[in-house]
Amino acid sequence: MRETFWGPDFDALAAQDPEIAGIVLGELQRQRGGLQLIASENFTSPAVLAALGSTLSNKYAEGYPGRRYYGGCAEVDRAEEIGIARAKELFGAEHANLQPHSGASANFAAYGAFLQPGDTLLGMALPHGGHLTHGTRVSFSGRWYNAVAYGVHPQTEHIDYDQVRDLARRHRPKLIVAGGSAVPRLIDFAVFREIADEIGALLMVDAAHFIGLVAGQAIPSPVPYADVVTMTTHKVLRGPRGGAILCRAEHAKAIDKAVFPFTQGGPMMHAIAAKAVNLLECSRPAYQAYARQVVLNAQALTEGLVAEGFRPVTGGTDTHLALLDTRPVGVTGVEAEARCDAAGIVLNKNAIPFDPQPPSVASGIRVGTPSLTTQGMSEPEMKDVASLIGAAVRDEDGSAAGEVRAAVAELVGRHPAYPRP
Ligand SMILES: *Cc1c(COP(=O)(O)O)cnc(C)c1O
Repeated sequence: MRETFWGPDFDALAAQDPEIAGIVLGELQRQRGGLQLIASENFTSPAVLAALGSTLSNKYAEGYPGRRYYGGCAEVDRAEEIGIARAKELFGAEHANLQPHSGASANFAAYGAFLQPGDTLLGMALPHGGHLTHGTRVSFSGRWYNAVAYGVHPQTEHIDYDQVRDLARRHRPKLIVAGGSAVPRLIDFAVFREIADEIGALLMVDAAHFIGLVAGQAIPSPVPYADVVTMTTHKVLRGPRGGAILCRAEHAKAIDKAVFPFTQGGPMMHAIAAKAVNLLECSRPAYQAYARQVVLNAQALTEGLVAEGFRPVTGGTDTHLALLDTRPVGVTGVEAEARCDAAGIVLNKNAIPFDPQPPSVASGIRVGTPSLTTQGMSEPEMKDVASLIGAAVRDEDGSAAGEVRAAVAELVGRHPAYPRP
C-alpha cells in the first residue's frame, strides 16, 4: 500500500532536504510541547494529512466535476463529488463549493458573486470581533465596496441588533455579513434574516470560526437563515487549511462562477480530497461528542480564568472561544501573550470592544479550546490550564516561567497531540 500510495514519506524529505525536514519535526514538537489555545487552530487527523500529502496535488482540474478544462480528471472528479455530497448532507445545504483556497478567498468569491465595486456592504467592525474581510480599509472588502460597520453594545458587549437594523435602514446594504473572529456568543441569525428581508438585502454568514460546532450539532446552524454561508475548514471543523461555501440552489451558479474563474484558478484537489475526508469524520458521533466538549471546555476555562481575576467579555461564552479583559489582572494583552509564551502557553492578544489600547497592545486575550479538546482534555484539565495562565500572566519578572513550563509539560504529556502509535 505504501509504495503505491506515494504519500507522506518523511524519510525521503529528510534525505533530500534536512533543513526543511528539521523544521517540520520542530513544529510537531512545538505543537506537542505546549498548550495550544489559539481559537482558530486545531490538530487535524492523520487521515486528512495523508490526503493533503497525496499525488492529487499534481492534478490540474480547472472547472467543476464533469465540466473540466483538462483531461484526466476522472479520479479528482469523484473526490470533489463525494466532498460536495458530504458537505450538503452534513449541513443540510442545497449547494456546496469546496474550492476556495481559504476563508478569505471564500469571502472574496461570495462578495464577487453578489456585489459590484462601490456597492454597500454591512459587516461587523474588526475591533468589535469582526474580520479583516468584513469591510476593513486594509482589505479589498473595504477598498472596493462601500463598507459600513456595526458593533457590539457598550454595556452588554453582545451584537447590537438595534444598531444593525438602524444602519441597514439608513445605508440599504446589498449584503449583510454576520459572523466574526472574536465573537464568543451565539449569533441570532433569525434577527439578521429579518433585517435583511426588511430592506431586501442578501444575508451572508461567515461561519469560519464556528462551523465545526454546527457540524457537530453543538450550536444552531446558520444554513436555514442565510443566502450564503462561507467557512474555513481548518478551525474547529478540524480539516485541512482551506475554505468552502454553502448556499441556496438559486445562488449556486453565481457562487461557482465567482470561485472559478472570477477569483481563483485551478482548485487544490489534494485539499478538496482532504476536506472530503474531514467531512466524513464530522458526520460521526465521535465528532459530535467532540464539538459538545469543545464548548463545555471553553465554559470551564472561562470560569477558571474568572477565578484568576480576568473579566470575560459578554460575561462568558457559548462557543469554542472566550475573550478576556486582562486589565483587572494589571497587564495588557501583549504582555499577557508574551508571558504565556515564555511558559509554553500559546494564545493571542486581542482587542476587546471599545479598547483604549491600539491593536498591537490590546487589553485582552482570546483563548479557544479546539486543540486541547482534540488532545482529550476535559473540564478538570481546563481548571489546571486556567491556573497556569493566571500564574504565567502574573509572573512579572519571569521567575515562575520554568515552574509553569514544567506543569504544562506534565499536562500535555498526559494528553499528547499526535500520540505515538
Ligand atoms: C479565519 C477567518 C477568516 C479567514 O480565513 P483564512 O483561511 O485565514 O483566510 C474569515 N472570516 C472569519 C470570520 C475568520 O475567523
